[in-house]
Amino acid sequence: MKRLDNFINGGFVASRSGRTAPVFNPATGEQTAEVGLSTAEETAKAVEAAKAALPAWAGLRPLKRARIMERFRILLEDNREAIAEAISSEHGKMFDDALGEVARGIENVEYVRGVPGLLKGDHSREVGPAIDSYTLRQPLGVCAGVTPFNFPAMVPLWMYPSALACGNTFVLKPSERDPSASLLAMELAKEAGVPDGVLNLVNGDKEAVDSLLTHPDVAAVSFVGSTPIARYIYATAAANGKRAQALGGAKNHMVVMPDADMDKAVDALMGAAFGSAGERCMAISIAVPVGEDVAEELRRRLVQRIEALKVGPYTDRSNEMGPLVTAEHLQRVRDYIETGVKEGADLVVDGRGLKVPGHENGFFIGGTLFDHVRPGMRIYDEEIFGPVLGMTRAAAFEEAVALINAHEFGNGTAIFTRDGGLAREFADRIEVGMVGVNVPIPVPVAWHSFGGWKNSLFGSHAIYGPDSIHFYTRLKTVTERWPQAIRAGAAFNFGGTGDH
Ligand code: NAD
Repeated sequence: MKRLDNFINGGFVASRSGRTAPVFNPATGEQTAEVGLSTAEETAKAVEAAKAALPAWAGLRPLKRARIMERFRILLEDNREAIAEAISSEHGKMFDDALGEVARGIENVEYVRGVPGLLKGDHSREVGPAIDSYTLRQPLGVCAGVTPFNFPAMVPLWMYPSALACGNTFVLKPSERDPSASLLAMELAKEAGVPDGVLNLVNGDKEAVDSLLTHPDVAAVSFVGSTPIARYIYATAAANGKRAQALGGAKNHMVVMPDADMDKAVDALMGAAFGSAGERCMAISIAVPVGEDVAEELRRRLVQRIEALKVGPYTDRSNEMGPLVTAEHLQRVRDYIETGVKEGADLVVDGRGLKVPGHENGFFIGGTLFDHVRPGMRIYDEEIFGPVLGMTRAAAFEEAVALINAHEFGNGTAIFTRDGGLAREFADRIEVGMVGVNVPIPVPVAWHSFGGWKNSLFGSHAIYGPDSIHFYTRLKTVTERWPQAIRAGAAFNFGGTGDH
């Protein structure tokens, strides 16, 4: 059995906690590895290594850090197939989808190559007689990241490239379900020239996370995962005096207006609801057709397409959808379908009967469609995180907007329409952090930042892009006067410039 270790101070170290978690190949149901679950003391060793590496790394010129990031980018690019293989074999998503995830992750490394420019401050001359003011952005110290299973390569790459480029050191606690992609990235970062101790990885569960949240030498915590844990992470990190950003779950609606291009809307819905088996925080899980005609047409077309979905293992690249991540998660999704039926939603396509020949023990479920899903039903209110699409019919645009704005989550949303004015109004009024107009999964590119609203994000910074430069640095403002320019005499008034 393959054993997955920690990566601390530039080398692999086995956890001696005696506690382990299994890692599965979700397509076969076989356990392929076991991962050690680190103790608080083992986690503290990683923080210690990061703290020791901090002065030299923070003191390195930003341009030199940027050049190391450039080498890291090239190595990630060269190894993208190996990383994608690690993702697909532990997560279950299709190989091309995994390659896409790696590509989107690499874009964040590409962005922070420009860190000398991104760290530029403001400068004001003559704020008083012979007085100038300028701002600096300085690193925070040791930063920690806790990441979910669903993007095992990309989400960690939303965090540590920015943190490192800004001069921080880092401890990553990836999901215990699929840590191999990040372990591979640790080795590549070392090869790229990231000094030992600057980037560390600790495997584990709540014990390791709690150790990071309470450790006095951890300055900031970035988290991506489910909302209950995000809320806990944000509150605990803040109570321990740390800067925190915690991105949570989602329930993303896609509005289909009567003037939408139906072919494109149906294609978009299929990819956004069933891609990665619905295990995406930006997946569309509720379709909102506006008007009965649109609803009937959408339902008819979706049924045909869902019944034709090719579900199977990633090793056959013609498949469109893979399994869920674990047997427990599969059971959870099946339970939600049962709940939906009991709640009175109309189960139009039931994926529970799906069999994948030769992969009977895999964690597969077919695409599922519910119609007449309403607020108050658990399958509407809660995140299912599986290939289950609900249809919630709206009579008019206003009703669709009200529905979305009333939901507790505000991660992503989309509208399909040919009416530019209406789309613009939707973008203005909708209480959601990321909006697509004829784009079903509007994940911002690396030079914008990613973040939801309401219970989809706790904290005041979005992740990656310009916001991450602010999150991973603290602002210092220097006001300076040079001796030769000082006029004689003391100033006792507040402000002190004598120029008021
Ligand atoms: P999760 O919340 O179960 O786990 C996320 C991380 O938290 C893991 O590293 C896990 O080990 C750790 N963790 C779990 N329980 C903990 C506890 N009690 N105390 C401390 N740490 C704990 O999430 P998941 O199932 O891995 O991922 C799926 C979730 O992530 C979905 O809700 C999805 O919407 C969300 N997600 C959100 C975004 C976003 O950007 N908003 C992106 C990807 C995934």
